[in-house]
Amino acid sequence: DESPASAPAEPQGALAADPPLIPGDDLFGELAAHSQRLETATPQEILAWAVEHYAPRFTMATAFGPEGMCLIHMFSEIAPQTPIFNLETGYQFKETLALREQVRERYGITIEYKYPDQTVEEYEAANGGPVYKTDTNRCCFDRKIKVLHQAARGMHAWSSAIRRDQSPDRAEHPIVGWDKKFQLVKISPLANWTKKDVWGFISKNDIPYNPLHDQGYPSVGCWPCTRSIALGEDERAGRWSGSAKTECGLHSSD
Ligand code: SF4
Repeated sequence: DESPASAPAEPQGALAADPPLIPGDDLFGELAAHSQRLETATPQEILAWAVEHYAPRFTMATAFGPEGMCLIHMFSEIAPQTPIFNLETGYQFKETLALREQVRERYGITIEYKYPDQTVEEYEAANGGPVYKTDTNRCCFDRKIKVLHQAARGMHAWSSAIRRDQSPDRAEHPIVGWDKKFQLVKISPLANWTKKDVWGFISKNDIPYNPLHDQGYPSVGCWPCTRSIALGEDERAGRWSGSAKTECGLHSSD
């Protein structure tokens, strides 16, 4: 792993005591109230609230999608010291990996790569070939979910780039909620944004984005599990196409 550009600041004031988050009705009620109140806030206001409440134990994972790029831009203005990382599965497109350098040049922010225990070569050798061909759930677990669990250690909250209108699975997503799987507060500043809002923000601020989006790939994941889509298809239809799988497990509750 490489170090982020700037280390997170030491806890200040009340945060110095750093009480652990205790999942339960009290916390869930509190998060639901924040979520309700933030329904009408802008993404920048939501991020600023999250930083105030949870930094330096606040982080974000990004796959450099258009929504993630918008959030990186906002973080650069609000809290550039926030640790942001990418799950480097070893199967990402070269166009995706190139965005990390563009982010560094444009914002001075270094997105940290988090790697699985085994390289692609070691993993495939140990499993008799590419696991994505035989068991995508296991491959996503080994190369994404396990790594995210490790990356989440010591954190209290993470930001997601989820939009409610991306898919029916995401339609009810709260702005602030409890992520049972990762035992973190999950903040989704873009929940109320549309695809048009995202691309309008990218265009207005000249934010770098993955060139694959201009080639029929609205949602880009690992290359073995991403295809381009046809006009009129759901924007996530190109992910794990041909299987019932729609999410890698980062955002699903099972
Ligand atoms: Fe493996 Fe495909 Fe999941 Fe990437 S998206 S971790 S290649 S199954």
